[in-house]
Amino acid sequence: MDIVQIKDKRFGLTISEKEILNAIESVAQRINADLQDKNPLFICVLNGAFMFAADLMKFVTIPSEVTFVKLSSYEGLMSTGKVKEVFGLTENLSGRTVVIVEDIIDTGKTMANLIESLGSKNVAEVYVATLLLKPEALEHTVPLDYVAIEIPNDFIVGYGLDYDGYGRNLRAIYTLIP
Ligand code: 5GP
Ligand code: MG
Repeated sequence: MDIVQIKDKRFGLTISEKEILNAIESVAQRINADLQDKNPLFICVLNGAFMFAADLMKFVTIPSEVTFVKLSSYEGLMSTGKVKEVFGLTENLSGRTVVIVEDIIDTGKTMANLIESLGSKNVAEVYVATLLLKPEALEHTVPLDYVAIEIPNDFIVGYGLDYDGYGRNLRAIYTLIP
């Protein structure tokens, strides 16, 4: 399946399932070595990171916990831009080593906001694990501890990422054909 049609758009295969899993295994091995004695709490950002988190956690062999949050956009009364609020985080993060698990870092705004919102929770340290990074699109300063795959600044779907809600179930990553 080299080309997929989702609604009105066509996408071409760019990163195979095997390539994705190999990259994730490498990241997990680094996490296993780096955070061995830290009892990390992995925080999976829904919806996009669900598939990455599932495969990542299968390669993580150190004692650790995993939880899930959802970011919801709302119009801040005082600000012009959209602000994202974190939902579902009920764990006590005090003194914890946290690893944020994200599908993709584009401009970095979402990740910067998320890290800022953890600021009041007395976290010991925050690491970021992202499946994908678009280096050319990055505008915000965010930690990039564990990046599985770097991609060009194109729109992609699959492996958790959607186009208008569809395509998250694809096992590989596909790029929009202009
Ligand atoms: P950022 O805040 O870093 O600019 O954007 C992060 C969010 O934008 C991601 O969590 C994701 O929802 C969305 N996003 C960025 N690039 C892509 C892409 O190429 N494809 C899809 N499906 N979503 C993207
Ligand atoms: Mg995301």
